[in-house]
This record gives sequence, C-alpha cells and structure tokens, in this order.
Amino acid sequence: MKPVHSAALSLSLLALISALVVFPWSWSQPPPTGGPQPARAATSKALSRADQTTIRVAVTPTPQKQIELSIDGPYQMRPVGSDKVLSRGQQLATCNVTATGSGFKIGKSEFAVTRLEIVPTQSPAVWVNGHEYRGNVRLFRRSGGSILAVNVLPLGDYLGSVVDSEMPLSFGEEARKAQAIAARTYALDVIRSGEGDGDFDLFASTSSQKYLGVQYRDGSRRLAGESEASRQIVRETTGMVCTFQGRLFRTYYSAACGGHTTQGSAVFSDAVAALKSVPCDYCRDARLYRWEADLPKSDVEAKLKTYFRSEGKTFEKLQTIKLVSGSTDRGTEVPEFEVRDGKRSLRISAATLRRQVSVSTLYSPFFTITEKSGTLHFDGRGHGHAVGLCQWGARGQGLVGKTSNQILRYYYSGASIVQLQ
Ligand SMILES: [Zn+2]
Repeated sequence: MKPVHSAALSLSLLALISALVVFPWSWSQPPPTGGPQPARAATSKALSRADQTTIRVAVTPTPQKQIELSIDGPYQMRPVGSDKVLSRGQQLATCNVTATGSGFKIGKSEFAVTRLEIVPTQSPAVWVNGHEYRGNVRLFRRSGGSILAVNVLPLGDYLGSVVDSEMPLSFGEEARKAQAIAARTYALDVIRSGEGDGDFDLFASTSSQKYLGVQYRDGSRRLAGESEASRQIVRETTGMVCTFQGRLFRTYYSAACGGHTTQGSAVFSDAVAALKSVPCDYCRDARLYRWEADLPKSDVEAKLKTYFRSEGKTFEKLQTIKLVSGSTDRGTEVPEFEVRDGKRSLRISAATLRRQVSVSTLYSPFFTITEKSGTLHFDGRGHGHAVGLCQWGARGQGLVGKTSNQILRYYYSGASIVQLQ
C-alpha cells in the first residue's frame, strides 16, 4: 500500500504536468508560494512549489539486516501515515536497528509496527549508516527480517546535496546549474511515472542520482554532502526543468562521454528523441576520456560461461572475441561482440559484457578488444553510459562561456528549459 501522502503528491504533480502541457511558456514569474518562507528567502529567491514536492529516497541500496541510527535533537517516532506518537526523546545516541517478529528494535526499545517514521523537531538531525539527512526518515520492515531506510524531504533540499554529490565546485557555476536542472527534471519525471516500489521514488546512488545527504562520516572524518554554494545553485534554478514536446522526460546523464554521446534508445527503453547522439570533445580533460584495461582471457571466459548459462545457453572455451557492430568512434550504437568457443558463436553487447566483467574495470561500454598471449586488452573511451548530458563536457562548455541553458540544449536536442511554479 502506498503511504497516505502519495495520492496528494501525485495530484499536485499531475497539476504541474497538465499545466505544463497547456501553457508551456507561462512561468517566467512564479507567484508567491503561500505561507511564510524560511529566513534564507530574504537573501535569494524563494523555492518554487515544484521544489517543495516531497521526494522519498531509499538510502539503503537494498534492505539490510541492521542499520545504524542516531538523532541529534528532539524527535518523535510515529507509524508511517499516522500522527500517533509511539515514542519521543530529546536525542538518540548511536544505536542499531534490527527487525523483530512484529516490528523493530531500536537500541533497547521495541516497536510493534512494520512502517515507522522518525520526525525530528529540527532538520537536519537524523543519521543513518553514517550519513546525516534533512527531513524525516522512514523505516520499513521487509520480508526476511530486513530493513529499508527511506529519507523523506522536499525536492529542493534533496537537490542541494545531489548537486555537490554529482559534480564538484571546480566544475563551475554554469555546469552545476545544468546539473541541478537535469537532476530536478530526472527526479520529477521518476515521481510522475510512479515507478518506485510504493515506499520510495529513487535510490541515493548512481542507480538513480548520487545523494550523500547533509554530511557523512568517512572513517574518523566528517565530510560535507552539500554546501552553501550547492544550495545557492538550487535556489537560482528553482523550478527550472527540461521538457521535450511539452513534457518532462528522463534526463539521463553520465560522467564523460569520451567524444560522442550515445543515442538514448540504444541504452534505455524510456529514452525520448531528445537523447540524441551528439559529438562532444568538451570532456577531453576527464581522466577517463580514454582508458585501457588488461584482463586475463580465462577470467573473461569464466564470466561469459556464467552469463550464457544464466541465459540457458552453453559456452565453453573462449577462442576469439570480435567487434561485429557499432564502433567506439561513433556514438549512435553500443558495440556488439561475437564470441566463439570453437563449436558455436554467440553475440553479446558491450554493455552486457561490461556488467558481467566489472563496471569499475571497464568504465564504459565503448571499447575495442585485442588479444595478446592470454590477455585481453581493452581500449575504451569515456565513463558511464554516455546518454544525455556529459558532466565533464558540461564543465568544458562552461569553461568556454556557454550558459547552463545552452549546455542543456546541446545534450538534450530540441528540449526546452521551462520554469515550473
Ligand atoms: Zn563528453
């Protein structure tokens, strides 16, 4: 079952989207959003209503047997979707949360509910597994006695961390504005599609968008996950989104395309035509603009055997591996390889091969392979799937004076940048 607020959320989004379809150009002057704004509004734009949309981010990549929790200030614990207070306190020292037969055990206290919301009086206050988050945190007891933690907060606060998590300050203001607008569009499009599992919209990782929270612990150090500069970028772009043919779309982006972005439909089934292949040399300063990797042929053979077995196919000793379609120079297609074991030949796309071998060894699906005495040598370009905005390319375009809107329109061909209320 979806939490109670989801229906309201979907309605407000639907209103936004339908407004967008009817009046695609009419938002240059956002009206007052109603209700007092926090003090920061005095020094810059108020956040748009779109940026006040509630977003739910799964901060554990998968449900976990145990999570670490602390709360730096007064709080209440309630069942999700209810005002009933189950517990309150002035603060909660670091403790473990585990699942019980009927709910949760938090430190020494037990709660007989399977969906629990932690509501701090002041935000940010809640720490989960070494990351501090703004807003509330929900705990869901999942099958098999594991726990999913979901951070619930306004979209604008979420984006304040996504901008710094995805792109460093050194990439420059225009690139980071483009990043903020792409990230806002991506998030709103995911919420609009309602494709989450009912309890959350996005992941806090590059599976969706990287989101580190307000701050996080790395060993004994505390590192910032957002900054005044990133919050300023969000305020300056508040409500701005990309549209294509009058609609939000999935604004995919990746670290460095390596010379050419890739046709979105070659990688993602929901890619719109704006995700067109375009040349991009603006990312040539990226460390992974070009890369190489050497892997023992026997390792790749083992991965291929496992993969083909999972597909119900037999594959034995790897004899040859050859590029049969696509090219690493032109970005429209993801390359495809033919592998032979002496008896049969099978095809595998570079994207699948990359996932089977290791996404952290083969940085992108754009590579050629040569063999020398039992070693496969990979010559690759770029980092990531290369669909949509190229983050290193946005940096390069900012350096030569392009604006965030020009950057976005370059990577999302035919898209408009519009201002939601
Ligand atoms: Zn690029």
